[in-house]
Amino acid sequence: MPEIHSKLPPSSAHRWLVCTLSPQMEEPFPNTTSEAAEQGTAAHSMAEQKVKRLLKEPCEREPTDFDDEEMEEHTDNYRTFVLDQIQEAKQYTEDPLVMVEQRLSFEDIIPGGFGTADLIIATPKKLWITDLKYGKGVPVYVSQGLNPQLCIYAYGAYSNLKYLFPDVESVTMTIYQPRIGNIDSFEISIKELLEWAEEYVKPRAIEAAGPGGVLVPGDHCKFCKAKAVCRARAEEALRLAQERFTVITGSYETSQGEMPMYSFKSPASLSQEEIEDVLPLLNRISDWIDAVFTYVADEAISHGRKWKGYKVVEGRANRKYVSEKMVEAACKKAGYTNIYEQSLLPLTKLEKRLTKPIFKELLEDTGLVVKPKGKLTLTVEADTREAVDPERLTEETGKTRLSPEDVFKPVEG
Ligand code: SF4
Repeated sequence: MPEIHSKLPPSSAHRWLVCTLSPQMEEPFPNTTSEAAEQGTAAHSMAEQKVKRLLKEPCEREPTDFDDEEMEEHTDNYRTFVLDQIQEAKQYTEDPLVMVEQRLSFEDIIPGGFGTADLIIATPKKLWITDLKYGKGVPVYVSQGLNPQLCIYAYGAYSNLKYLFPDVESVTMTIYQPRIGNIDSFEISIKELLEWAEEYVKPRAIEAAGPGGVLVPGDHCKFCKAKAVCRARAEEALRLAQERFTVITGSYETSQGEMPMYSFKSPASLSQEEIEDVLPLLNRISDWIDAVFTYVADEAISHGRKWKGYKVVEGRANRKYVSEKMVEAACKKAGYTNIYEQSLLPLTKLEKRLTKPIFKELLEDTGLVVKPKGKLTLTVEADTREAVDPERLTEETGKTRLSPEDVFKPVEG
């Protein structure tokens, strides 16, 4: 059955609720898929099957090329998480209603609005909505400001079930993002949810579905299909770059009169406060530059479009076997048998082969398998991972901790 897309899907509500012209801007661009999206679909179907088996419901599933041990492990853990949520729900009723991959309609607040919730658990007093996110690129939170996607699902679950459970008082929404260890929950009262849906979502959804709307650039542009050709976004990126990173160092004459000449500020001339101020904007500017280059390259390579000063060339390529089987056969026929090398199984495969208890006894307990510390990375404060103590950093790197005064010395002149 072909997949049907809503014009205002909950997954992009964070964008169309702010930039109400974005659905129209995105219309000319086809829906595309990616390996990450297909992997996410495979993980969802594996998780669905495991949860349905837990509920003793039938669920057929064809294996996919993306199925692997990591996915098995994460979806096993997801099933355990769902089981824990069902146990929690049993505090409210003996027999909670559990729905997996449930289609919901939100037409009363979003014209033509519908979507599919990964998991809903319903009791007479409380609902639970869980969204499995298999991506690991961008952490998604629900506890730091209202997450529009989850709130719309929560609204849909409440309004679709209110005839069965009219006295529900709250909904717990959870993002389950196992590949980066992010399990983030937030409870919202039905009163607050309904006010948000009626007063915030409904007027913006009506505007976004109609012929009007406004262009509002921001962080939500990141996954907009129109991001490379959107003038508002281009102007914002150029204005941000000009305001925050350049200084006027002179002027030059043009046919329209004297124009200011800009130069980029040296990072060494910026104070710590100025750098902290511009850090959140850097991604917006670099995302825009990436989007323009991706668009320009795709137009040139896929559609033969010419861009002045640029051309399409072939990259370097490495030799490769056409068919390993045919190469083996050809070598053996010619009398060459020394064509193989033996290597140890990858860790997870070896663990499966030996079984977990033996693997632990033989290799982990004897110190032959260790888990090194993760690579240190700078991330945003909102990231739910615990911050590393700065003292530990200086001990481990052996470098002295610098004070802002050490780093930001006044620039002469
Ligand atoms: S790129 Fe940004 S401003 Fe432009 S349409 Fe998309 S969301 Fe709106």
